[in-house]
Parts: sequence; C-alpha cells; structure tokens
Amino acid sequence: MPADRDREVDVAIIGAGPAGCAAALTIATYTDLRVTMIERDITANKPGEMLPPDVVQLLEYLDIGTACLADGHKEAHRILAAWGAPELADRSLLFSGGRPAWHVDRTLFENQLRDAAQKRGVDQWHANLSSAVRTNTGWLLSGSDGDKVKTRFVVDASGRAARVARRESCPLHASDQTFAAWRIFDLPASRDHKCAGATMIEAVPDGWWYSSGLPGGRLAVAFFSDLDLFRDQRVNQAGGWQRMLRNSRHTATRLTEASHASAIQTRSATVRYFARAHGRDWIACGDAALTVDPLSSMGISLGLLTGIHAGRLAAAACGGIEIADSGYSSEIRRLATEHFETRRRFYAQETRWPDYPFWARRSSAAPETAPAAEMTA
Ligand SMILES: Cc1cc2nc3c(=O)[nH]c(=O)nc-3n(C[C@H](O)[C@H](O)[C@H](O)COP(=O)(O)OP(=O)(O)OC[C@H]3O[C@@H](n4cnc5c(N)ncnc54)[C@H](O)[C@@H]3O)c2cc1C
Repeated sequence: MPADRDREVDVAIIGAGPAGCAAALTIATYTDLRVTMIERDITANKPGEMLPPDVVQLLEYLDIGTACLADGHKEAHRILAAWGAPELADRSLLFSGGRPAWHVDRTLFENQLRDAAQKRGVDQWHANLSSAVRTNTGWLLSGSDGDKVKTRFVVDASGRAARVARRESCPLHASDQTFAAWRIFDLPASRDHKCAGATMIEAVPDGWWYSSGLPGGRLAVAFFSDLDLFRDQRVNQAGGWQRMLRNSRHTATRLTEASHASAIQTRSATVRYFARAHGRDWIACGDAALTVDPLSSMGISLGLLTGIHAGRLAAAACGGIEIADSGYSSEIRRLATEHFETRRRFYAQETRWPDYPFWARRSSAAPETAPAAEMTA
C-alpha cells in the first residue's frame, strides 16, 4: 500500500489507457486539482497501434507534442485494401488526406502518457478497482490492495468494462457481436514482400483480416468475425485461426515469411455506446462511453478526445459548475450515430458475399438497444 497516497482527491480516474491518461493530463496541466488514476494492469498487451494524423493535435493539447511519437514509433504512409474486390488497392489518401498516420508501439505509447501524467503530479494507483460507492460528499473507491480513496468526482475510463456507466444502469446500444483474434509475428520489412510494413485490410467471406507492420520488425495480424463463428470454428485456438487464414489470399501470402507467432488473444470488438455517458459527479470517456469499429483506427484518438472533454468537465464540476446539462452525452450519441452510418456505408462497399452471415448482418442500419455479450476467451 503506497504510504504517501492522498486519501482524499478531487478527481479519481478509473483506467490508465489513452482516455484515462488524457483526462488526467488535462486536469493536471490546466488546473491545480488533486488527481489519482487507478490501473489494474500496466503491462497489458493491448491490440491497436494505428493512429490517424489528427492524433498530433490532441497530443499537442495535452502538452506532449509530437516528441513522444518521434520516440519509438513510426509514420505510416501506406494502406492497402482488398475490400469490395479481390485485388489490393491503395487507400492511403482516403484514410489520411495526404498527412502521415502513425504506427505506434502500443505499450510504449501508453507508458509515455502515464509517465507524463506522473511527472505532472497525477498519483498512479496500481490496483484493481473493487468497488465504487457513493457517499454524502462524493465517492469512496476501494482497490484490490485494500487501499481506499475518497473523491468528489469519478472519471470512468475503464474501457469496455465501463465500471461506472454500467453501475449507473445507463442504456447500452450495441451493434453485432464482432470479435477479434490477433497475434504478433516477427517479420522484418525486408521480408514483407511488396508491403514493407504497410497496413493491409482484406475482406473474406466470414469477416476481414487486418495486418500492420510494427516498430521493431514485427507484424500485428488480426481476424475479425462474429462471436458465433469464433465459437464454432475455435478461432481462439491456433488450428482454427490457421483455418481461417487459409481463406485469405493477401494476408496468407504476407505471412509466408513470418516467424515466431505470439499466442492468440481475443477481445470483443463490438461497436457500442452508452446513451447516457455522464451525471453530475461522474463521466465516462473512451471505450467506456463509445467504442468504434477497429476498421476505422479511431479508437485511441477518440479516447484521447473524449478523455480531454471528460477532464475539462470534471474540473468544471469540481469548481461548482453544474455539468448535467453540458451536452456531453448528446455529443457521444451524435458521434456514435455518425460512426454507425459511416461504418454501414463502408461495409456496404463489400458486396461479394451477401449470403454469408457476417456480411448480411452488417447490411442493416443502426443498432438498437441490445447489450452485447462479452466473450472471455
Ligand atoms: C482488435 C482491436 C484492434 C484495434 N485497433 C485499433 C487501432 O489500430 N487504432 C486505434 O486507434 N484503435 C484500435 N482499437 C481500439 C482501441 O484499442 C481502443 O479504442 C482504446 O484502447 C480505447 O482506449 P481507452 O483508454 O478508452 O480504453 P483501454 O485502452 O481499454 O483502457 C482502459 C483501462 O482501464 C483499466 N481497467 C479496467 N477495469 C479496471 C478496474 N476495475 N480497475 C483498474 N483498472 C481497470 C484496464 O486495465 C485498461 O488499461 C482496436 C481494438 C481492437 C479490439
């Protein structure tokens, strides 16, 4: 138990991913409020490493600038897609408008954000949040280490766990039950055929493949499909994953020279949002408020953006401003509606397999209130 932890803070942030760090950095940079950030696993191997060009402005607002991107990450200039047609087409300009996107080392990127927060005085509490209970003056948070912290305001940046948004029984709107199974291969750019580390997307009858070069001569490869197919085909096991890979053309070719594969990890990639994402003494940001399709590569930058908003509103609430009418939840709903429509149009471009369940399920419009099951494989 850390001996010097403030037992009372103004703002407690659950989760130190991109959204939690953005909220912490916003408060620590622009106010004098006391902040603690609770995180259960700082070594987690999270998926997702492609960042859009706009991330630069968000990092500048957080006073980190591009220095952190220059250190251990690399610019991404090429995106190839076999989507709607069997051949690979260059989609780079569609994605970035000519400016470079970024391939980041995800673990390093999050460590850089946490370090910056720590240097600005944010207390880092390494524990699993076991309970969050309302009191007369705010909240009492308890950690798995037995420590307790009183706080006036809670920022829920706990990712898909959405600890507070669920506790507050906020209505959840979810799309289909997309799942991802990914692994990391060793594949230096020199052995990566014509792709040389580029990001590649390839549609197949049962879903789609994503592969992308990582700093350090590695390649992240993920398969996205539906939960029922994952279960039927045992995609979370090496045999099932390889069987699915055989249905691809470009991704399988790309992997012919790859060596050493990491274990397969799976995670829900369902697109969903909470129709109410804040109250007078709490706010949800990042995946805890709204998750987007990994196809968009927007999850991390949206986490930073909504984390910044959450940090500002947390500070306002601590300053005595009523935030219930701030419009934050309606902004989350607007972003979600826009995303669902863009996503629907993008999936509609793939018309080769209308009778396959994966594509048939994605041809309809917006989702309705249908909480998605979370697979724990
Ligand atoms: C397969 C896949 C590929 C993806 N690819 C991309 C991509 O290329 N680009 C992109 O931008 N996005 C991508 N995403 C999305 C991106 O990973 C998420 O949008 C992003 O991680 C959201 O950040 P966050 O801070 O909201 O949540 P998270 O990064 O999930 O952070 C939440 C944190 O809360 C902590 N936490 C949860 N519960 C507790 C608790 N009880 N106590 C303490 N700590 C807790 C967790 O340990 C975690 O560190 C991808 C997602 C998937 C599934």
